[in-house]
Amino acid sequence: MAADHAPVDFWTALHRGWRGRCPRCAAGALFGGFLKMQSHCPACGLALEPFRADDAPAYFTIFAVGHIIVPLVLILERYGHEPPLWFHAALWLPLSVVLALILLPRIKGTVIALLWTHRVVAPKPAPEGLDLSP
Ligand SMILES: [Zn+2]
Repeated sequence: MAADHAPVDFWTALHRGWRGRCPRCAAGALFGGFLKMQSHCPACGLALEPFRADDAPAYFTIFAVGHIIVPLVLILERYGHEPPLWFHAALWLPLSVVLALILLPRIKGTVIALLWTHRVVAPKPAPEGLDLSP
């Protein structure tokens, strides 16, 4: 594929990842499904497989959702005349799930873009028959 790509600055790459677009060209989609990574960018051919986010997007999503929901719970409890527990459960549980579903692909795209900007790639698998265990 094309090797001539204009340099992409850090924040542009992260913004492209947030939008679920290829951090290099912004034309191709990062995901083939909700969270399923494409092996290559369909527009520019950038290999996306080596950039593995692993558990980082889930961790950052839980971190963000918790820091949004918990203060709201405390504010409601303090200023909302202490609503019953069923009200808290009916309000915050679905809101937490929806917020996580909204944020998770965006955070995963951002993490992939962050890995790409720093060229952090997963190590290649060891050749057949080579034992690299310590
Ligand atoms: Zn691309």
